[in-house]
Amino acid sequence: SPEFCSQIITPSCNTTFSYIDELNKNLRPSISELVKTSYFKYFKIDLDKQCKFWNAQHFCATENCAVEILPSNQFNWSVIHNENLKPSKLGKIILPDVTAIDNAIETESIDTCEDLDYSHFDEDHACVYVNLLKSPERFTGYGGAQSFDVWKAIYSENCFPNTNPMSMSHIDSEPEQCIEKNLFYRIVSGMHASIAVHLSNEYLDAETGEFYPNLKVFMERVGSFNERLSNIYFNYAIISQSIVKLAEILPLNQFIQSGYDDISPTQKEHFLHSKETESENKDIYNDLLLEDIIPALNQHQLFDTSTLFSEDPLLKDEFRARFKNISAIMDCVGCDRCRMWGKIQIIGYGTAMKILFEDDQALNLKFRRIELVALLNTFDRLSKSIESINKFKSMYLNHLNDV
Ligand code: FAD
Repeated sequence: SPEFCSQIITPSCNTTFSYIDELNKNLRPSISELVKTSYFKYFKIDLDKQCKFWNAQHFCATENCAVEILPSNQFNWSVIHNENLKPSKLGKIILPDVTAIDNAIETESIDTCEDLDYSHFDEDHACVYVNLLKSPERFTGYGGAQSFDVWKAIYSENCFPNTNPMSMSHIDSEPEQCIEKNLFYRIVSGMHASIAVHLSNEYLDAETGEFYPNLKVFMERVGSFNERLSNIYFNYAIISQSIVKLAEILPLNQFIQSGYDDISPTQKEHFLHSKETESENKDIYNDLLLEDIIPALNQHQLFDTSTLFSEDPLLKDEFRARFKNISAIMDCVGCDRCRMWGKIQIIGYGTAMKILFEDDQALNLKFRRIELVALLNTFDRLSKSIESINKFKSMYLNHLNDV
């Protein structure tokens, strides 16, 4: 629709909400299959990192706020290997190959791109690993003043010079005049809305302990706000475009190999495996990413970055620094599960912007495993959000017919 075009920052706009709905319907099975593979389902996080902005407490102590961490003595890659010997739906297995690990340990080359990073990463010894499939993003009960303050701090990062940092007008504000500020706001608002879709879609029934799609909560938080809905689609377009571009920047066979930098040498030993597994590994990667997902995303330019940051080069540094601050604000989220999914998504968007806006430095761009894990999981979150929005739309229409 024209409304979508005016908001999507693309010159020759023939993208519509229904185009993205259709694209997503076709891609949904591949995306959800991809994030179940061993490369993408483990996330490394420091759950004890202190909030550096205020004295944040862990207010959400219910089991829904917890994440299931892998005990460190059990976290070795042979466990993962064996687990994955069960063929997936596609009958193939994804595992890294040995060259990948060797290439990835060049920490020096990772350091050289730190200036181009849009997020902070948890890298110290206090980190634990979480199997994302066992701690899904859904209703946790985290809320009230604590989460409101975090959202307020996040939106306040959109106060580029000349705006008032204490104003809450950034939340649900009028679209910004400056296109880059508008972009910043829409990414954050789209992420906020996507989180709200997930918590509505898997909302806790306190009596039965079951999770179910709650139409009322969805309407109150997202469904009744066109701007919030549109920002989810906007983010889908950005992330899609960055995945297409990533495949151009990195030689294709390096995509999946570009970082087991978070694996210790002992864990690395467990990686050694047969040539057969290496080829199976490449097969599933080829099937899902290279043959299904990327060509489908590449059929149509969903997001055009060519005019962004062209007028004021310093604006990009400001933008990057402020976005990086948001990743630090995530340490102030008092619910472990919300914090983990918040970090994944902020790192995912940060990776997308590194790909889209630092392409003039393409030769220097290096990616940690965690960035690719976050990027593809963020894409999965948006894809699931769009699927859920369509489901809620049907529920809403049925509800109207009933009254
Ligand atoms: P909030 O969502 O807290 O919003 C605060 C204010 O922001 C609203 O009053 C409104 O004015 C404005 N606003 C709301 N949405 C938007 C938008 N899309 N764009 C612009 N402005 C908006 N809860 C869970 O149950 N599960 C989770 O996984 C989870 N993850 C979270 C991750 C992070 C990083 C944070 C900060 C919170 C998370 N929460 C999660 C809590 C959740 O986001 C809400 O804060 C909480 O449910 C309370 O919601 P609320 O309706 O009071 O408004």
